[in-house]
Amino acid sequence: MADRQRIVVVGGGYAGLAFIGQARRIPNVDITLIDPGDSHELIPELPEALRKHDPIEEHVVKYQDLLQGTGVKHIRDRVISIKMTQQQVILSQGQVEHYDWLLLSPGSVTAYPPIPGLEEHALPLRNAHDAHRIKERIREQEGQRIVVVGGGLTGVEVAGILAPDHDIWLVEGAKRLLPALGKGLAHYARVRLQRAGVKVMMGQKLTRVEAGTIQLERDALHYHVLIWAGGIQAPKWLRDTDLPLDHNGYPKVSPEGQISDRVFAAGDVWRVYVGDDEVPQTAQLAAMAGDYVGDAMARAIRGEPLPPPFRPRLRGMLISLDTGAGVGWVIRGGIPVRGTSARTLKSLSFQQYRLKLSRAFGRGWPF
Ligand SMILES: Cc1cc2nc3c(=O)[nH]c(=O)nc-3n(C[C@H](O)[C@H](O)[C@H](O)COP(=O)(O)OP(=O)(O)OC[C@H]3O[C@@H](n4cnc5c(N)ncnc54)[C@H](O)[C@@H]3O)c2cc1C
Repeated sequence: MADRQRIVVVGGGYAGLAFIGQARRIPNVDITLIDPGDSHELIPELPEALRKHDPIEEHVVKYQDLLQGTGVKHIRDRVISIKMTQQQVILSQGQVEHYDWLLLSPGSVTAYPPIPGLEEHALPLRNAHDAHRIKERIREQEGQRIVVVGGGLTGVEVAGILAPDHDIWLVEGAKRLLPALGKGLAHYARVRLQRAGVKVMMGQKLTRVEAGTIQLERDALHYHVLIWAGGIQAPKWLRDTDLPLDHNGYPKVSPEGQISDRVFAAGDVWRVYVGDDEVPQTAQLAAMAGDYVGDAMARAIRGEPLPPPFRPRLRGMLISLDTGAGVGWVIRGGIPVRGTSARTLKSLSFQQYRLKLSRAFGRGWPF
């Protein structure tokens, strides 16, 4: 094995940065981050950033500010393929980067089921660019009707946050909101949304989208702005790699985070199971996986056995609702919380994450 080892990280999100925070401590390694953006985007904060007076710029952290003086190199480009057998990643302009060790952490992308017109007319919310587009459209259509499709964590948050200034409709195909939370909390969220003026339509699937109208199984609904919060999937370009993939296009990852001896994964692309249950893909899980895989790769580089399989212990799941309220649970699913306390805990978790970043990269606080 050559003296200095080259670690390449694909994607500087929650998983990639947590990993780099750990990997910086490994002696004799050069770390290269490949990410097309200039900033780490605090994605869970983006629904809040849709508010009129909340600039999106306050919910991103420039890589330059984080990485300055750390020795970590940032290549601002997109990976379009990986040749695992040759230890190479291929960038969008054809540039080839060699790695000794690779972390795959490019996150996920918006999933569009085959509903005619959906991709053409609906706005997704997956990154800061999407948030900018939504804000622009909302500004143009001030006071008009916004339809949010998808009653999961993102859809409910977006509907609640936009409710004070707009005519909001939330559409969900199933007969309940928030499948990730218990029935009582989901009921609380619905009542709270309705009190804030959100019209909630459940139990009808979306069948077609046209400019200005969506068609549901029984009803049609007029819209000025349509936001799609219907789910995520693995990035499609993974199919152009020689990584082993499952039938949904996600890489096959061992319980220790390995795709192969030298290739690890973390974040949304690693579907983590505890027993038969899949752990929901969240920023919290991604950051924990990044920390874990940083340690696992350090051991692999030293030629030591890997740590015991990854067993995330989630600290909670919280979402914001209308002004000043939230809902969710904390402390390993044990304590349901709602109202202002849930909202305060959620804001606290955002600050905790910033603090974690500032410590991991030795940066002053606040950024
Ligand atoms: C609107 C919304 C609200 C959410 N709210 C919460 C919440 O409240 N709490 C929570 O825990 N989770 C929340 N999540 C989920 C959470 O944001 C994700 O699970 C988390 O960001 C995943 O982290 P990651 O590191 O895998 O990917 P990301 O954080 O998405 O980072 C991926 C990085 O990879 C880069 N990248 C992508 N493709 C390539 C490529 N081809 N080459 C190089 N780089 C690439 C991207 O530019 C990005 O910087 C929310 C998600 C959304 C969309």
